[in-house]
Amino acid sequence: MDNGICQACGASGGPLMKFSLGKDFFGRPYDRLSPSSDQSPKWYCAACSMHKNLQRDFRDIRAEYDKLSAGQGSELSKGDEFLRASVRLREIMTILSAAQEPSTLLAGQDVKLLMERLNTATMPV
Ligand SMILES: [Zn+2]
Repeated sequence: MDNGICQACGASGGPLMKFSLGKDFFGRPYDRLSPSSDQSPKWYCAACSMHKNLQRDFRDIRAEYDKLSAGQGSELSKGDEFLRASVRLREIMTILSAAQEPSTLLAGQDVKLLMERLNTATMPV
C-alpha cells in the first residue's frame, strides 16, 4: 500500500486490502468486460473492501438483467444462474441493512429496486 488511505471512504490508520476484480459474479474473467478497470488495483479498508465485492456482484447482476429485459442473451436466462442471482441480491441487501453506516459504494435502494425487478421477471425454465 502506498499512503494508507482507503480509496472509498478515506479512512486511514487501519489495515487496507488490495482489491482486484478477478472474476465476475458469473465466473467470467473480468478483463473481458472491462479491460482497463483491473489494471490499477485499489486499496480499501475492511468494510469498503467488503462493500466493493457487493457492488461488483450487484453490477454484474444488473448488467445481465438489462440484457435479459432487452431480449438479448443473458446469464440470467439460465434458471440456476437466475436463482443464484436472486439469492445473492437478498444477501447483499441483508448485509447492507446490517451495516452501521450506509455504504459509500452501493445504495440499498438500488439493490431493492433490482430485487423487485427480478421478482417480476419471468423465471426462466
Ligand atoms: Zn473505507
